[in-house]
Amino acid sequence: MPLFDTHAHLDDEKYSTDLVSIIEGFTKETNNRVLCVATGIDSSKRCLKIATNYPGVYFSAGIHPNSITQNPENSLELLDLFIKEKKPIALGEIGLDRFRDYCPFDLQIRYFISQIQLARKYDLPILIHCRDAWNDILPILENDMHNNGPIKGILHSFTGTYENAERCLSLGLFLSFAGMITYKKNDLLRDVAAKCPIDRILVETDAPYLAPEPFRGKRNEPSYVNYTIKTLANTLGISMTELENQLWVNSNKVLNLPN
Ligand SMILES: [Zn+2]
Repeated sequence: MPLFDTHAHLDDEKYSTDLVSIIEGFTKETNNRVLCVATGIDSSKRCLKIATNYPGVYFSAGIHPNSITQNPENSLELLDLFIKEKKPIALGEIGLDRFRDYCPFDLQIRYFISQIQLARKYDLPILIHCRDAWNDILPILENDMHNNGPIKGILHSFTGTYENAERCLSLGLFLSFAGMITYKKNDLLRDVAAKCPIDRILVETDAPYLAPEPFRGKRNEPSYVNYTIKTLANTLGISMTELENQLWVNSNKVLNLPN
C-alpha cells in the first residue's frame, strides 16, 4: 500500500544539497505521496516548484505564525492572489504559537482568522499548527464552525490531551501524528491515538523536524514516516497493512485527492 506523508517542509534549506534523493527515496517506484507544506509567501513559491518537479509531491500555501513578521506587510493579499493563480491543495501552515515568541500574539490571531476565511473562500482544507495555545485556538475554530459549518483540515503534529482531540474531532478535523508518538516517554499521546476513530487519523513527518525513533534528533525525511506508522499500528492493535490502507483513504479524503 502506498504511504502518504501529510506534512513535510521539503523547501527547508536542510535539503539544499540532496533534495532529489530525499524525494525520490520516498516516491520513486512507489505511489507514495507527500504534501510539501509552506510557511510563508516565498516558501509557498518554493513548494509549488518542488511539487511541479516531482510526481507524488503536492503543495500547500500559507503563512506560519512564527514567520509572519518575515513576510511582506501585504502578505495576506499576496497569498490570496497566489492561491487563485497556482491552486495549492491546502492552506497552511497556519495557527497559533505561544511557545516561541517570534510574532506578537494579537497579530498571530489576525493572520490565523484571515487565513481561515481565505480557506473558506477557496474551499481548501487548512493545516493547523497549535503550540501551547489550545485555549486560544479552539474557541476561534468553534466560532468559525458555528458560523460556517464543519471545518475541513488537519491538526498537524497533534500532541494535545484527549479532551483537545475530542474538540478537534467535533470540529470536523483530522488528527495527524508525527514522530513524537514513537518516543518512549509518550504513553499519554499513544493513549490519545488509541482512542481516536481510525477514519480520522493521519501520519506525517514534519520533516526536517521531529524525526521518529531510531532517528530522534537527526534530520527527518518523508521515508521515516514508516516508523511512525509502525508505532501507531502497535498502539491501535492492527496490522501495518490495515493501517496503511486506512491512512491512504483518510489522507486523500481530507486533501481532496483521488485514491
Ligand atoms: Zn510544519
